[in-house]
Amino acid sequence: MKLELMNVTKKYEETTVVDNVSCVLTPGVYGLLGANGSGKTTLFRIICGLIAANEGEVLYDGKNTSAEGEAFRTILGFLPQDFNYYPEFTAMKFMLYIAALKGINGKVAKKKSAELLDQVGLGDVQNKRIKKFSGGMKQRLGIAQALLNDPEVLILDEPTTGLDPKERVRFRNLISSFSQEKIVILSTHIVSDIEYIADEILVLKKGKLENRGTAQRLIQEIEYFVWEVEVKEIEVRAFQMKYTISNQKNTERGTVLRIVSELPPTADARSVTPTLEDLYLYYFREEV
Ligand code: ADP
Repeated sequence: MKLELMNVTKKYEETTVVDNVSCVLTPGVYGLLGANGSGKTTLFRIICGLIAANEGEVLYDGKNTSAEGEAFRTILGFLPQDFNYYPEFTAMKFMLYIAALKGINGKVAKKKSAELLDQVGLGDVQNKRIKKFSGGMKQRLGIAQALLNDPEVLILDEPTTGLDPKERVRFRNLISSFSQEKIVILSTHIVSDIEYIADEILVLKKGKLENRGTAQRLIQEIEYFVWEVEVKEIEVRAFQMKYTISNQKNTERGTVLRIVSELPPTADARSVTPTLEDLYLYYFREEV
């Protein structure tokens, strides 16, 4: 299993939205990290064959996916961001409907749907209407439908948007449990979503693949770029104007600012261990 993007570029009018992206992905969980508008959804749509790239190609096991067409779609599972759940359908009816669209019918569809609904913790509510579901339940249903065809490539576009922390943890665990022997790519701008489950992080900035690597390796790269300084309250504003502040806390001695900066912000700034949150700010400081 190998998904390969070769120099993929997408332009809308004069704007380059996906800019010469190349990467090779083998089974594992990948977190596509980018600020809003960095091109994540567009890249996913290209991989899924929903829109065509202006340049470059997507290969799966060495074969061009747009030439393969239907054959590639049978090994692909996709949870789009703007997924339409049909509120009047029950969870089971919805699964059977999607199964039919994927060409899975009859007993096989029923068995597979029941199995998946059980696995995502919706077995007990399979005959309830989707309009009664919480956001987390809908997203679990979204994952279940994406898995109906036992995909080798599973793409999840911002799957945790709108979920509360508890649902988010549950969702993460679910993704981990489904990720064996699959290429799973999930996009997010929430670092904690991928901190624990992603084997690798792909940093997409303004359409360009800026970096990729394990969270640990990416964090190491900014090892001396995160600082803590103690400032007086009246100085805070000036620091905010000049630097990227990743945290601010008030203590008895004054305000402690956590600053992401390649150079020390003051002579007595203390270098501190970076987190993935700092990493995000390092890459997307202009966007936040
Ligand atoms: P993300 O998923 O990272 O938020 P998108 O891929 O949705 O980013 O969008 C990237 C950029 O491309 C945005 O600036 C967006 O406005 C632009 N864009 C996306 N789709 C279209 C389109 N159909 N026509 C014109 N611009 C688009």
